Amino acid sequence: MTSVSPHKKAKALKPTSRRPAKELCSECGLCDTYYIHYVKEACAFINQQIEGLEEQTHKRSRDLDNETELYFGVHQDMIAAQKQQPIEGAQWTGIVSSIAIEMLNRGLVEGVICVQNTKEDRFQPMPIIARTPEEILAARVNKPTLSPNLSVLEQIEKSGLKKLLVIGVGCQIQALRAVEKQLGLEKLYVLGTPCVDNVTRAGLQKFLETTSRSPETVVHYEFMQDFRIHFKHEDGSIEKVPFFGLKTNQLKDVFAPSCMTCFDYVNSLADLVVGYMGAPFGWQWIVVRNDTGKQMLDLVQDQLNTQPVTSQGNRKEAVQQSIPAYDKGVTLPMWAAKLMGVVIEKIGPKGLEYARFSIDSHFTRNYLYVRRNYPEKLAAHVPEFAKKIVGQYKLPE
Ligand code: FAD
Ligand code: SF4
Repeated sequence: MTSVSPHKKAKALKPTSRRPAKELCSECGLCDTYYIHYVKEACAFINQQIEGLEEQTHKRSRDLDNETELYFGVHQDMIAAQKQQPIEGAQWTGIVSSIAIEMLNRGLVEGVICVQNTKEDRFQPMPIIARTPEEILAARVNKPTLSPNLSVLEQIEKSGLKKLLVIGVGCQIQALRAVEKQLGLEKLYVLGTPCVDNVTRAGLQKFLETTSRSPETVVHYEFMQDFRIHFKHEDGSIEKVPFFGLKTNQLKDVFAPSCMTCFDYVNSLADLVVGYMGAPFGWQWIVVRNDTGKQMLDLVQDQLNTQPVTSQGNRKEAVQQSIPAYDKGVTLPMWAAKLMGVVIEKIGPKGLEYARFSIDSHFTRNYLYVRRNYPEKLAAHVPEFAKKIVGQYKLPE
């Protein structure tokens, strides 16, 4: 007689039920499945355990005395890349979708967890297990909202899948790594993207309405390395709004509380990470964390242009000056914002230094947020690497 795994006796929460992490829940999807059984250990917002899971996944945690690892996590390589033939409609050039398609076509995996959108709403996430390249392609482009990617985990055991690729952001991947051994897989591959400042679907609406000239026609947006948000509209036009002109007073509460307490911007537990922030404008930034990640990247090498990552400028002053602005929710008038954006772009941080600028700004803001709102969580919830990064700056009392 075979014994039933304890989690199979657990019951997923109803969509309307309050989640164990309460207002800090990022809707990662774990609690929509019987793996809720493990939530107290697995949830990124109840039990931060990045360092331990780095050991489990990469055989060691990051070296805090190595500045590159301190910021970008365990890795064996970092490059800038772009697809020679970009995928139309992808977030950037479609490296993520291309790797997933290649893995499926070559039989490395039988399914890919990714997220499409619903028919009615281009930004409403709909996680799936894709079994065909067409289904992967239909999941291209960011759904810039909290997305329950792990809500399809129960289907893995039911469908008998043994080799799986999961695409996801940091909080989803932390929960996934924590339950990895319970999934009954022969091989799990994880393709991560960085993630920061995510919002609920309602929060996204507020952000679009306060920031874009035409919220209903936005198909895609990104916080770019030129210190502007680039909104792409249905007619193909690009609208650029300087970060420093954001209505931060109105947007102060728009980011989800989970994202205001997150320190895993760079998706530390993925095998391979594909973002943009450490690369020159128009290029994607790739972090190979381990041998599995290298194997995944090798599959598309012949489809890519690549160049080494570089670093230029000094972020420290700009970060220190942004701390009180973030903290008080100051908004500059648009003309001053544009001017400041231009000055910073000319003399400011580029490449990896831009990535460090963004990490420093978000970690100091989030550290202050946790200190103010969840002082009892500060010691255990903030990972050691983030404490060291934040410790470089003078924070308000
Ligand atoms: P595509 O080929 O277009 O594929 C995109 C993939 O993302 C799809 O497979 C889809 O399943 C998955 N996806 C879409 N929405 C979500 C979601 N909400 N949750 C989980 N998975 C999703 N990069 C940075 O360098 N800095 C950032 O600050 C940053 N913030 C991000 C915030 C969010 C919410 C997301 C989803 C991504 C973010 N990225 C960030 C990553 C970056 O925007 C691109 O997604 C990445 O470079 C891949 O581009 P691509 O053209 O290769 O992807
Ligand atoms: Fe559950 Fe995920 Fe929300 Fe944590 S973040 S409470 S694991 S759904």
